[in-house]
Amino acid sequence: MSAEQALAESEARFRALVTASADVVYRVSADFHELRQLEGRMFVEASTVPNRDWFEHYVYPGDRERVRGAIHEAIGRKVAFDTEHRVFRADGTVGWVHARSVPMLDAEGGILEWIGMASDITQRKRAEHEFQDQRRMYEAILTNTPDLAYVWNLEHRFIYANEGLLRMWGRTWEEAIGRNCLELGYEPWHAAMHDREIDQIVATRQPVRGEVPFDGAFGRRVYDYLLVPVFGTSGEVEAVAGTTRDVTERKQLEGSLIDADRRKDEFLATLAHELRNPLAPIRNAVHLLKAGNPTGDSVRMAREIIDRQVNHMVRLVDDLMDVSRITVGQVNLRNERVSLRRVIDDALEAAAPAIEAGNHRLVVDVPGASLQLEGDATRLSQVFQNLLDNAAKYTPPGGTITLRAEQRGEQIVVSVRDSGIGIAADAQPRVFELFTRVHPNDRIKTSGLGIGLSLAKKLVELHMGDIEVRSEGFGLGSEFIVTLPAMTAAQAPAPGAEPMVTRIRPDTSRRVLVVDDNRDAAESLGMLLELEQCKVSVAYDGLRALELLETFKPEVALLDIGMPGMDGYELARRIRATQRGRDVLLVALTGWGQADDKKRAAEAGFDEHLTKPVDPELLSRVLHRRGSVAA
Ligand code: ADP
Repeated sequence: MSAEQALAESEARFRALVTASADVVYRVSADFHELRQLEGRMFVEASTVPNRDWFEHYVYPGDRERVRGAIHEAIGRKVAFDTEHRVFRADGTVGWVHARSVPMLDAEGGILEWIGMASDITQRKRAEHEFQDQRRMYEAILTNTPDLAYVWNLEHRFIYANEGLLRMWGRTWEEAIGRNCLELGYEPWHAAMHDREIDQIVATRQPVRGEVPFDGAFGRRVYDYLLVPVFGTSGEVEAVAGTTRDVTERKQLEGSLIDADRRKDEFLATLAHELRNPLAPIRNAVHLLKAGNPTGDSVRMAREIIDRQVNHMVRLVDDLMDVSRITVGQVNLRNERVSLRRVIDDALEAAAPAIEAGNHRLVVDVPGASLQLEGDATRLSQVFQNLLDNAAKYTPPGGTITLRAEQRGEQIVVSVRDSGIGIAADAQPRVFELFTRVHPNDRIKTSGLGIGLSLAKKLVELHMGDIEVRSEGFGLGSEFIVTLPAMTAAQAPAPGAEPMVTRIRPDTSRRVLVVDDNRDAAESLGMLLELEQCKVSVAYDGLRALELLETFKPEVALLDIGMPGMDGYELARRIRATQRGRDVLLVALTGWGQADDKKRAAEAGFDEHLTKPVDPELLSRVLHRRGSVAA
């Protein structure tokens, strides 16, 4: 073999070797401008690459500057260099290459030319980019989630902790990564618990869930955590990953729900008890009346019992309805200028039976009519009646109840103090909560639904006021202090401007039609009206009522609203549509006295709207008011 042949063969072997490991081999001039040779498995079409402008033809514009920089540096230092950059491929698409160029030096060390090779790394780059995209995505999630996320290696050291966890620890990544729980300040029992859990997950390959309190940068909070195995490619547990959620608020909410549920159950039990209590005496009184020949005394006694007990029940139900209305914001105050004296007198009158029953001494110290405020007199009296009733109820017989009022600056301050059983300090914050009874039944035998004070508080707040409780403790009496905004002298009305009370002139022999599908209710109301000297006719449905309108010719019609078939509204409209019905005084009787119901009643043509059970005195006033106007 000639030397020339041997050289050619060696060159061919060399080229084969290079092209086997690269896609392209090339030779370029020392200054890199001229492409002298280009060969190999082509992802560029060699014939299309020009010799001089090869760089622009081949290298992707966005990468040219960087690659030129590398070339210049390599030329200056006469060393081999690598670049990864984008190129235009033969099919016009953009791909990635890894190019390595080696300088060939002459005897003086000058660069003769560069020899290089390039491989297509588009696939690898694509995978890398996908990986980086995914990583960015996961990072976005892990950084922004409110949960804490972390990974332990099998030495129980943290190899990852997300932003949230670092914040909770109050540490930087550098301070935390590579440490275990104990080194990060976990209490020993807590660290030991996680150590056990990690070992368990490695052994069982199953997740572990738990709940734990922890004192971190945000104070002591309760955390719910889930630890899961991270499997390696061959299926063995390689690490343990965890996510932890702050459940403090949820726990508190759960606690208060459980508490509310318990109170509701207690309330229902108490309610049943409270409603049943008055029924026994009523039933006894009815028996008394049914007895062969009731004497005048026993009739009077029975009447008083029924009256008292019914009043008690009505109050219970009224309170209940008031609370629910206030809770849903349906109570409208009828505000007017009122004198505190009047409000308190009304309350004292209403609470008198309870105070007398307890044989209590009552001390009242309220300035004259000069103390004025703006408010709903009935509602304000209700507040003080509640406080007085409680004082009477929670004071053993023969105690002292003191009611004092005074003006302090722009406030009116009313205190109701008793010498009774008092309220323990820890129970005081709860007394204004709905359905709260702070004295267990077995210690104090009293009635009550735990509504009164909650109602009083809400009513006082509706008047822009405040109520608080004071007691030195159990057995040491209680004091409730109500503060309300006073009216200044300028706002107060001139003397003598109090509205005149119209004298009611009793009217006899009114013709009254009573309509109610509840026969007992209709009949008993009819009897009551007869006692008032009215002429009464009773109907149990709307159609009969319309007949009676023509035959009986009532002046007044009392209509129940909720009736099957034709309801009270419809009946009122029909009555109003007749010739005779135009001037009849129409009174609606409903279980609901809400503003909406009153509006509906007025729209249907009613003149008056009364809530059941009707207070006979109020009814009598309504009947006679029209009477005196008409007379
Ligand atoms: P109740 O219908 O049970 O009286 P309240 O809301 O009026 O409901 O009162 C709530 C609880 O506060 C009562 O059950 C009682 O334990 C306590 N309480 C209220 N007033 C007094 C008082 N004057 N003295 C002692 N305890 C009181």
